[in-house]
Amino acid sequence: MKRTGVFYHDICGKEAYSSLAMGVEEGFKSIQKEGLFSHPNVTWFESEPATEEEIARLHSQQWIDHVKQTQWWRVSLYSVGGMIGATEKVLKGEIDNALVIAGVGGHHAHRDNAWGGCYFNVIGLGIPHARAKSLGRRFAIVDTDTHHADGVRDLYKDDEDMLHICFCDTFSWVYNSDDRMESNTKFCFPHGSSDEEEISNVEREVPDRIKEFKPELLFWLCGMDTHQDSYGTAALTEKAYPELARIIKQIADEYCGGKLIVKTCCNAPPHATRYVMPRIVDCLAELGKYSEE
Ligand SMILES: [Zn+2]
Ligand SMILES: [Zn+2]
Repeated sequence: MKRTGVFYHDICGKEAYSSLAMGVEEGFKSIQKEGLFSHPNVTWFESEPATEEEIARLHSQQWIDHVKQTQWWRVSLYSVGGMIGATEKVLKGEIDNALVIAGVGGHHAHRDNAWGGCYFNVIGLGIPHARAKSLGRRFAIVDTDTHHADGVRDLYKDDEDMLHICFCDTFSWVYNSDDRMESNTKFCFPHGSSDEEEISNVEREVPDRIKEFKPELLFWLCGMDTHQDSYGTAALTEKAYPELARIIKQIADEYCGGKLIVKTCCNAPPHATRYVMPRIVDCLAELGKYSEE
C-alpha cells in the first residue's frame, strides 16, 4: 500500500469558485464519509496558506496585489498552499502520493493575468517550490481538463525540464498555434468523446513520453469539466476518472518512483465529485475498497 495525503482546507470548499459547477466540499466530505481516513496510510493534511513569496515565484507583485483585493484571495492562498505542502511531502518521501483539492482553478493563470476561475497557477507553483528547496528539478504535468492550459504553457514555455502533456483539442473554444506554444517538451492532444476514447487517448499519448522524459514527480491535473453534467466536453461519466487515475498512477509507479500529485478543483456537480474523489484516493492508496465495481 502507498502512503497517501489529501490536502484540503475547509476554506477551499466554503469559498470555492462555485459558478463553474463545482462540488469541492462534497468531494472532500465524501472521502470522509466513505471512511477512507480510517486507513492508517491515508492522511488528511489541512492545507496551509501559501505565502506571497511563494506565489511571487511565478506571478508579478502587481497581479498579487490585484487578487488581494478580490474575494478569491483567501481561497487562492489555501489552494496554492495545498499544492506546495503536497509537493514538499512527496519529494521528501514523507508520503508517496497526494490528492490536492483546491477551491479555484489555476491553469489559465499567467504571470500578470488569469481567466476562467483561475487566479494563481496552482499546479505550476509546486515546481519552483521544489526547486527552491532543492527537492527536484525535472517534472511533468498531464492535464486532462477540457481546456488548453494556456497559463501553465506560457509560464513554462522555455523550461525544458518541464514536460507538459495537455489534452485540449476538438473542444469548440479555438486556440491558435501561437497559444499552444508546442515544442519537444510541450504537447497538446485531443480529448475523447466517450469514456473509452478519452482513456485510450491518455494510454496512447502519455506513458512513452513520461518514460523517455524521466520526471522526478508527475502532476496530474484532473479537470472534471469533461464530465457529462459539467460545462466542458460533456463527454465522460464519473466512471472514467478512477480509470484515468489507475492509468496515471501506474505510469508514476513505473517511471517516477510512484511520486504523483493529483490536483483537482472538482469542477463538476456534487453528485460526480462525490463518486470520484473517494475512488481516486482509494486508487492512490491501493486500498481496493471499490475493486468489485
Ligand atoms: Zn476547463
Ligand atoms: Zn493544450
